[in-house]
Amino acid sequence: MNNLSEIGDLLLQGKRIILCGHVMPDGDCLGSVIALGLALEKMGKEVTLAIPDPVPEVYNFLPEVKRFQEGSKALQGEYDSFIILDCSVPDRLGPLRELLTRPIITCSIDHHVSANEFAHYNYIDPKAAAVGEIIQDLLNLINFPLTPDISICLYAAIVTDTGSFQYDNTRADTHRRAAKLIEYGVPAAEINRLIYEQKPLSSLRLLEAVLGTLSVSPCGRVSWMIVNLEMLKNKNAGKEHVDGLINYGRSVRGVEVALLFQEISKDCFKVSFRSKELVDVNSLAGKFGGGGHNRAAGCIIKGDLETIKTQVIAAALQAVNETALVCFSPDV
Ligand code: AMP
Ligand code: MN
Ligand code: MN
Repeated sequence: MNNLSEIGDLLLQGKRIILCGHVMPDGDCLGSVIALGLALEKMGKEVTLAIPDPVPEVYNFLPEVKRFQEGSKALQGEYDSFIILDCSVPDRLGPLRELLTRPIITCSIDHHVSANEFAHYNYIDPKAAAVGEIIQDLLNLINFPLTPDISICLYAAIVTDTGSFQYDNTRADTHRRAAKLIEYGVPAAEINRLIYEQKPLSSLRLLEAVLGTLSVSPCGRVSWMIVNLEMLKNKNAGKEHVDGLINYGRSVRGVEVALLFQEISKDCFKVSFRSKELVDVNSLAGKFGGGGHNRAAGCIIKGDLETIKTQVIAAALQAVNETALVCFSPDV
């Protein structure tokens, strides 16, 4: 693995740079890509912002967000450097994975505990709450002065990946970095309103339907919910509106592991995993070919829902037992 100053030197050398986040983009990858992209542009580089899936509507407030080239569009361009942010494995680059096969310099900056060193240059810090934190440090290291737009993007990256500073990836240094951004002028309350209090009614109707599927294991430690394509269609909601629903499953008293089974296409499901304080869901998702962080992870599994549910719930119950959690009596 490289250190941050080697990454800084590398970035200074590039001339035509493409930056990219992961499939089903979130606030961290979008905010980090824009923040670093704008900084490199100010240094005189030719910069392309790319993202394998469409930008969710909720992030339309991010500065310069309209510049993202979505899907495989950016493959048409020519670049000398490919910078990958918040993407633990090449598969999560979607169609942009092809750029890894070109004779150009590749560099991955990430914070997933399960991250692979798949690029020429890799900087992975699982202690960082968000890639946005790493980008803030990197800009500081190369003495690049923050701009209002860059600060907003970094704040959005950090606030989303920490669940508004609630998750246990939030450290004192996370607050210090956010405080610097606020001192610099980031309108924190406004950004939080834009992210969390501008939901389309259809997303709450989807929540209503998904909550209808909420189940809790007899021991009260594992919960699960289901989202299928029919629900999205009936409620006129998009895939992006599934983001965050799993937190309701985790919020149940006594629950340690929450699961969300999301139908992606026929016989293909994405499983999201969250834990409260003990279970390592990165390892749990790893059993099914996925990964992520200790408290938030995911995987894609092919097959029918009942078989997938049986296998994943059994593994989650086993993980809960391994942590010697005593049985908790659910309220219902
Ligand atoms: P999600 O449930 O989509 O919010 O994802 C939670 C965490 O798990 C994120 O940090 C993702 O990067 C990671 N993750 C989700 N799906 C996968 C996957 N198929 N493979 C590896 N990591 C994943
Ligand atoms: Mn992410
Ligand atoms: Mn992240």
